Amino acid sequence: MATGLAVTDVAESDIFRGTNTSAESGWAINGACHPSLNLTINARGDVFPCCAGVDQTDGLALWNIKTTPLEHIVKAMNGSKLYRELVFRGVSSFAPLLLAAGIPLREQYTGICEFCYDIFSRPEAAKVVLDRFDNEAKEVIEALLKSLSSSERSMVQA
Ligand code: SF4
Repeated sequence: MATGLAVTDVAESDIFRGTNTSAESGWAINGACHPSLNLTINARGDVFPCCAGVDQTDGLALWNIKTTPLEHIVKAMNGSKLYRELVFRGVSSFAPLLLAAGIPLREQYTGICEFCYDIFSRPEAAKVVLDRFDNEAKEVIEALLKSLSSSERSMVQA
């Protein structure tokens, strides 16, 4: 699969893309990676859920061991809705969001990891995904704040 240097250094004709389907034919890069994840720290100290491609991107470099203890990072990853969507529902669940935002996607990918690398190595594509989950988190917090009494709310906001 073309991730990292293979994107620029390997001829397209040398990459076997199998039978994965395209966005036009209904987007069927199916599968989720949760059974095969390995917590990965890259050379810069950025922490990722796997070593299968996304660890070479800036787009999902959300935490770094130089600034945050690893145990806090692992807790944050476990609680992250974005990560849960990515590893349990599968990265292809982001495809409709990206296409609706006008982000061009390849006709074919070798599989979910190449697709994942492609999204998170392109800042404009990563931003669409990150913004969606950031906004969702803000909406949940706002809804929770609305449900509190005014004294509870001022305690939380303080
Ligand atoms: S889909 Fe993404 S997060 Fe999952 S194993 Fe592949 S590169 Fe890693």
